[in-house]
Amino acid sequence: MVRILLTNDDGVGALGLQVLEEALAGVGEIHVAAPLNEQSGTSRSITLRRPLRFEKKGVRRYAVEGTPADTVMMAVNQILDFRPDLVVSGINAGSNLGENIYYSGTVAAAAEAAKYSIPAIALSVNARKNIDYSQAAELAPRIALQALETGMPAGVALNVNVPHPWNEGIEITRQSRKISRKLMIEVLDPHGRPYYWMHEEVPLADAEPGSDYAAIRDGKVSITPIRFDHTEEMLIEPLRQSWEKIMAPDL
Ligand code: MN
Repeated sequence: MVRILLTNDDGVGALGLQVLEEALAGVGEIHVAAPLNEQSGTSRSITLRRPLRFEKKGVRRYAVEGTPADTVMMAVNQILDFRPDLVVSGINAGSNLGENIYYSGTVAAAAEAAKYSIPAIALSVNARKNIDYSQAAELAPRIALQALETGMPAGVALNVNVPHPWNEGIEITRQSRKISRKLMIEVLDPHGRPYYWMHEEVPLADAEPGSDYAAIRDGKVSITPIRFDHTEEMLIEPLRQSWEKIMAPDL
């Protein structure tokens, strides 16, 4: 029997997680391990300076007092006594596109599962309020079944984003090089001192063709295979040569 671990970064009480549980119930046995509190934007951070705890919240349902990466580590190494066939992280309230994925807890949870060679999917909806999860819920079992059927190379996860509304097809994309988080909104506190909120400016107009942003702009679901080897292959040989003198043994 197929066993699926669900997680997220919006917290164990998030509506998107509840929708995902219902959507995937027909695909396999669902196990939930999610952060106790919201962890959006925590990326792949882990907890080292305080103890980690988890609590049972129901049948095959656990909350971990930590980040999404903590949660997947705890689930795989401690909570579950088996290796899940698939990990799905989401459904996140808000897209994870372009270079924003480096900050995403949703994507980090999938990446953490991929590190254990478990096929993993991060699933996000491109909306932040009044979210209708029904189209993402309809898509989730189709993507899960396909991922189970074809499998995934070790270390690779799928980053899936659903436009809101979704009215075109599905596209395999590449990660855009654009980022939406570079805008600081300045506000004055009652003492006249400035403070700041990070804001988004979505770079849809000039999205690269074939990219995740372009698919979402065109009303299509974006599926990007992602891996987390940050090596710049093209610089290895040139650096070995041009940096030769600092690598000399007599230095
Ligand atoms: Mn989130």
